[in-house]
Amino acid sequence: MADKRDYYEVLGVDKSASQDEIKKAYRKLAKANHPDSHPGDKAAEERFKEANEAYEVLSDEDKRKKYDQFGFAAFDPSAGGGYGGGFEGFGGFDDIFGGGGFGDIFSSIFGGGAATRNPNAPRRGDDVRASLNISFEEAAFGCEKEVTAPRIEICPDCKGNGCAPGTTAETCPDCHGTGSVRTTQRTPFGMAQSTGPCQKCRGTGKIIHQPCKTCRGMGKIRRNHKLTVKVPAGIDDGQAIPITGCGNAGLNGGPAGDLLVGITVRPHPIFEREGTAVYMEQEISYAQATLGAEVEVPTLDGKVKLTIPEGTQPGTTFRMRGRGIPSLRGGGRGDQFVSVKLAVPRGLTGSQKELLRQFAASMGEDVNRGGIFGKKKK
Ligand SMILES: [Zn+2]
Ligand SMILES: [Zn+2]
Repeated sequence: MADKRDYYEVLGVDKSASQDEIKKAYRKLAKANHPDSHPGDKAAEERFKEANEAYEVLSDEDKRKKYDQFGFAAFDPSAGGGYGGGFEGFGGFDDIFGGGGFGDIFSSIFGGGAATRNPNAPRRGDDVRASLNISFEEAAFGCEKEVTAPRIEICPDCKGNGCAPGTTAETCPDCHGTGSVRTTQRTPFGMAQSTGPCQKCRGTGKIIHQPCKTCRGMGKIRRNHKLTVKVPAGIDDGQAIPITGCGNAGLNGGPAGDLLVGITVRPHPIFEREGTAVYMEQEISYAQATLGAEVEVPTLDGKVKLTIPEGTQPGTTFRMRGRGIPSLRGGGRGDQFVSVKLAVPRGLTGSQKELLRQFAASMGEDVNRGGIFGKKKK
């Protein structure tokens, strides 16, 4: 197998390219290599896939940063330090100790007082984010995709109490399990009492003598959670699908957070989208515009006939009802808007040119008689 090409090289853009430049470059490549226009062409299909992969990473600022830093290793699960692996680390101190941590010291010294929360109270787990990159058509008609999201789960070996099998935690003798202690401090204004987190148990209210090996006494582990996400028809770029209860585990029996799947829709080589409307440009010839014609126009449902009336001007927009994107909330599909562009023919034969000259003459127009350009070519 050939070596993978650099994503920037694939899209033919600079390392400092803006999102707009990346999008433009991708659209150009996708248009040139789209499987619809190259049926059975394996090389084009490979180039199309390669462009999709490069776009998926470079269009996402987060993934792009990781790619810039680690290269392909950023997305290789076997490389360990990469994307979706242990790279992001825990969500911070609060995630592990359930809040009421050192952040409260400040407020308790300066008169906050009641800031320390009960470490044994149930707490909802944090929400977790994942991103999903789908095609224009998948967004229009919906799809099912597998998503892998790292999340914090209750340790299966100790069921969350953090103790090695057969042992139990001791209630902290300093705070009697409350996680906070009252201290008396001398200040310029006299003695002041304040409440702060217990130093001995770090605010957890318990002392673990023999920590569980799996979670090192945390009671939680970070794991990649794989699940199938049903993407509804009509979803748009930048929207997120909430999946209840698939986020980080709660604390002390609290409910788990949610998983929010952020959607990125790859741009389509032909179609543009705004809400449920689809926009595209269709080239027609001068004769078709002048005399009228029936042309085949690509839609999300395949090619559909569109009637071009006699005397159609360039830039005219036709509406094809119900050929747009389904509404997320139900209520049918939007429309497709087809804007007409005039294609000027090149490389006409001598007799075709002669016919056109005759036509121009009949309209009283002044055109090139095949003089200067014709002679030079010889
Ligand atoms: Zn454990
Ligand atoms: Zn304590």
